[in-house]
Amino acid sequence: MAVYRSKGIVLRSIRYGEADRILDLYTRDAGLVSAIAKGIRRTRSRFGARLEPLSCVDFVAYHGRTLDTVTQAEVLRSFHGVREDLARFEAAAGMVGSVRALSGGDEADRRVFNLLYNGLDALERGDSGFDSVEAAFGLKLSMLAGYAPQLDDCLSCGFKLNEAPEPLYFAPNHGGVLCPECRTVTGDTFPMPPGTLDRLRILIEHPIRESLSENGPGEGVLRVVRAHVLAHAPGHSISGGVRISGSRRLA
Ligand SMILES: [Zn+2]
Repeated sequence: MAVYRSKGIVLRSIRYGEADRILDLYTRDAGLVSAIAKGIRRTRSRFGARLEPLSCVDFVAYHGRTLDTVTQAEVLRSFHGVREDLARFEAAAGMVGSVRALSGGDEADRRVFNLLYNGLDALERGDSGFDSVEAAFGLKLSMLAGYAPQLDDCLSCGFKLNEAPEPLYFAPNHGGVLCPECRTVTGDTFPMPPGTLDRLRILIEHPIRESLSENGPGEGVLRVVRAHVLAHAPGHSISGGVRISGSRRLA
C-alpha cells in the first residue's frame, strides 16, 4: 500500500454514500488524482475540514486501483472568497475546466499546480478583472501543455501580424492567427476585434496576478483563449467548465 503526501487543489468534490466524498484533485506531485475520502461528512470526522471545491489542501493518501484513498487532509487555503462570489467562481470554473481539458492525467507538473494556485489567489484578492485572470490562465496553461498559440506570423503566408491590417482571424484548430488575405485557407476561423492580439501578448508576458489590472480582456480575448484550449483538449468531450461555460458565454 503505497502511501504518499502532497498538496492538491480540489477540482471537484461529490457526495458519495452516507458520509463519503469522491474528489478530483490537481496535485503538486502527482498531477490529476481521483480519490475517496471516507467518513468525511460525519460530524466527528477525523478530517479537520470539509474538502470543498477549490480548496488547497495538504493531504495523505494511499494508491488504489481506480481511486486513491485520502486518510488525512488539512486545508491550507479554502478560497472561500472565490467560491462565494458568482463572477469569481465563474472565472475559477473556467480555469478548472481548462485544467481538466489539457491535463493528460498521469504527468505531474508543479508549474500547473502553481499557476492554478496563483490564479485562484488573484481571483480572491482582486476586485475586478476576473475575465482577464481566466484568459491569462488559459494562455499560460496551454503554453505549459505545449500548445502555445502562434501570435507572431500569419499561419499560412508568414506575414508579420504586427504589420497586417486588422481584423485578424483566429484559427483555433491550427492554434494561431491568419491575416485577412489568408482567412479563407481553413474553415472554423473567426475575426478578432481590434487590439485583441496586443492584449493576448500582454497577458502572456505578465505574471497572472498582474492580469487583474488589465481593463477587462475584451470579449474577443476570452473567446480566443477558450477556443484555443478547447481545440487542444485531447478528449474534446470532457464535460468540464470549458465547454459548458464556453458555450454559454460565447453564445
Ligand atoms: Zn497570411
